[in-house]
Amino acid sequence: MVSAAAVFSAIAVLVSAATLVVAQEGASAGTITVPVTYSCDPNVCKPPACFCASTKPPGGLDPKNIPMFITLTFDDSINSVVWPIIQNFTEGWNPNPNGCPHSSTFFVSNQYTEYNYVSYLYSMGHEIAVHTVNHIANAPQAEIRASQQATNAFGGVPMNQLLGFRHPFLAFDGASFDGLAGLGTFLYDSSMPEDSNSSGFWPYTLDNGPAVGCASGTCDGPFRYPGLWEIPLNTLLNSDLTENGPMDPNPVPGGAVGQPTATEIFELLKFNFLRRYNGDRAPMGIFIHAATQIAVPARTAGFLQFFQWTQETYPNDVYYINNQQLLSWMLNPTDVATSKGSPTLGCRLPAIDPSNPEICDGINNKARGGVLAADPGLVMSCAFPPMSYWSTCFGCPNIDVNTTEPVPPRSGNRTIVPAAGCGAGAWDPVGAKVSFRLSCLLLLFTSVVVGAAN
Ligand SMILES: [Zn+2]
Repeated sequence: MVSAAAVFSAIAVLVSAATLVVAQEGASAGTITVPVTYSCDPNVCKPPACFCASTKPPGGLDPKNIPMFITLTFDDSINSVVWPIIQNFTEGWNPNPNGCPHSSTFFVSNQYTEYNYVSYLYSMGHEIAVHTVNHIANAPQAEIRASQQATNAFGGVPMNQLLGFRHPFLAFDGASFDGLAGLGTFLYDSSMPEDSNSSGFWPYTLDNGPAVGCASGTCDGPFRYPGLWEIPLNTLLNSDLTENGPMDPNPVPGGAVGQPTATEIFELLKFNFLRRYNGDRAPMGIFIHAATQIAVPARTAGFLQFFQWTQETYPNDVYYINNQQLLSWMLNPTDVATSKGSPTLGCRLPAIDPSNPEICDGINNKARGGVLAADPGLVMSCAFPPMSYWSTCFGCPNIDVNTTEPVPPRSGNRTIVPAAGCGAGAWDPVGAKVSFRLSCLLLLFTSVVVGAAN
């Protein structure tokens, strides 16, 4: 163990003023510069309730003997347009060293989302998280709450599993964090990009405010949210150590969409992976918008080349996990050997069995191929012309999802997934009961109470 004093001096950093341009789909780029002073005393802020930001792994573990985590996250609506990209990124890969498939985190905005895809992703063991209903910057609390409720109701994800939030455009302020923390139902936020001066932090709680420059948002007020985790977005660095960006890696400086080759993408990811793997092994995030990848097949090819390279080169200690798994491991950090059997990195696997009845749970028991073929005759198609068409197992509402009425009155006789989930079963919305299967359902977090802002 390193001494507490050494840890304290290491994390009592002054994060210098940083300038970062953040752009997402349809966004106007914003440049905001906010200096932040962060300090955290590990003698006061102690696990499991409180984590100081640190570049060192938790539990005093030797970085050379812990798993290297890669978190692949997707932002925005999920629908048939982006589905081929999501399939490319999430299916067909060798499992993690513990035999579990890769798991990703999807920050879902509700507008333009087709909910049967959400049900399918959740059933296949991915994490579903919240990204507002209408993709609004500096998210008002009503947008956050309504998004969580609508995704629960129409996507079939238990409320107690919708624990993460990412601010659209990575744009936040004290009011949006007050709203998020005030709901008391979220475990973490993941909206704050690191920069070259604050690189390599593990996730931490916001008891002492943000440890990275608030370049994409405004850290006004005291900005302290006890117990609320922040999973910072590592900003990828170019080979000359200039900043590349936190989202949708593009190795061509200022390059237009379509320019980078697969090799350039691969080399960018490999360079950043090796910096972390050979350093203190802070998790490496790959943060993308599926929609951004559609126009650039070469870009996707570069990502896939990287996944294959990590699996072939590091078959024993590289794990592709979701954000909830990462935080669960933070609470129970273990070395490589112990991690292999640790529940924190375990998986939630559906029992795909042709003899199982179809119950509209997103699980494709008969292997017909394709999400839309799962649960035949049970999925309901909802139409809100001229722009919104989606399907769900949980009944069409009489108006589209909105912030005033996230779950409008619904047609049909479907019952929403219980807020507390279904234990080791899958929810049957027609029979309004838990259908027990031979599945391994792993719930890492089942209740969350996050303190309000102070
Ligand atoms: Zn977004």
